[in-house]
Amino acid sequence: MTTRLLVTGGAGFIGSHYVRTLLGPDGPGDVTVTVLDRLTYAGNLANLSSVRDRPEFRFVHGDVCDPELVSTLVREHDEIVHLAAESHVDRSIEGGAEFVRTNVLGTQNLVEAACDAGLRTFVQVSTDEVYGTVDEGSWTEESPLAPRSPYSASKAAADLIALAYHRTHGLDVRVTRCTNNYGPYHYPEKLIPLFVTNLLEGRPVPLYGDGMHVREWVHVDDHVRGVELVRRHGRAGEVYHIGGTAELPNRELTRMLLEACGVSGDHHVVSVPDRKGHDRRYSLDWSKIRDELGYTPRVPLRRGLAETVRWYRDHREWWEPLKQSTAVPEGGPYGKPPVHLRVGHGGPSGQDR
Ligand code: NAD
Repeated sequence: MTTRLLVTGGAGFIGSHYVRTLLGPDGPGDVTVTVLDRLTYAGNLANLSSVRDRPEFRFVHGDVCDPELVSTLVREHDEIVHLAAESHVDRSIEGGAEFVRTNVLGTQNLVEAACDAGLRTFVQVSTDEVYGTVDEGSWTEESPLAPRSPYSASKAAADLIALAYHRTHGLDVRVTRCTNNYGPYHYPEKLIPLFVTNLLEGRPVPLYGDGMHVREWVHVDDHVRGVELVRRHGRAGEVYHIGGTAELPNRELTRMLLEACGVSGDHHVVSVPDRKGHDRRYSLDWSKIRDELGYTPRVPLRRGLAETVRWYRDHREWWEPLKQSTAVPEGGPYGKPPVHLRVGHGGPSGQDR
């Protein structure tokens, strides 16, 4: 039986990878996909060009906060994978309103419509950032939420709203929380694509603070496989962590990126003032999804980085216009000149997320 899947945010980095995977040559062949996307600065139809002409694919340009549009669309589908979001922490520090609107109200609008329509399954794609920061050990799915940025607070609120619709109304909601992603088609404001594209342009890379902020990295291919496992085999009302293959400080990651780009020398790295409220370390215990659904990440970081660098080297036509057009609000995120003006890279003060 064919499942009619609605994918919100499917023109973004992770959403488009998910859609390309589902409708690609190795896809399951039992889904049709409608992408609902507002095409903000982070949404790009070019990310979907390989599936655009597939009969199983449809694109709807619209806002997850639009009740009429969402209600109509949800009735035409069996399941939703919800990825639409404002996703960049630095932008949420500049202003949180759009984060609350899209991430919180948009999610509420979707689950409300899902309840009304008797939708089969709703997958809320979320982040490890909802737990805040941890010096030692790893968060389990039962750890308390303690978000510290407007971005992570809006995602935590969205998760709780979605789960409340499960507990109150019986909607089959499943939440995934994943670590830092990397891979192709990643908007060049986040750490890996920003650093790689800067290095390919012969520019330095801006490293926040002492560079000792620790993140766990997962290739986007592994993330979407985890999401798909949860959509197909997860349990209603449950949260699943999706982890990666390597946990390391940003300074060490930067060294690996320089190496992957064939660049050497400390002068390529410029220390810039730390992000406000910068979380020190994220770490997920993802044994639940491993034991219950058989998930393990497959892409080792070194190989994934080499492939990612190759992709950016071969697809300058994709990222060069984005870097040229990226607008940085007057004064930059900290009321100082934008970081890129100080260190000469081509986007906002892009960092891990
Ligand atoms: P992204 O910024 O690349 O893409 C977001 C997409 O949502 C864009 O296509 C954008 O146009 C669309 N969008 C934004 N507002 C919208 C609205 N109001 N209505 C409809 N569409 C809208 O983000 P991403 O990195 O692909 O992240 C996707 C999801 O995964 C997000 O929910 C994010 O919180 C989550 N996540 C991301 C990471 C990561 O490392 N990037 C890690 C864990 C979880």
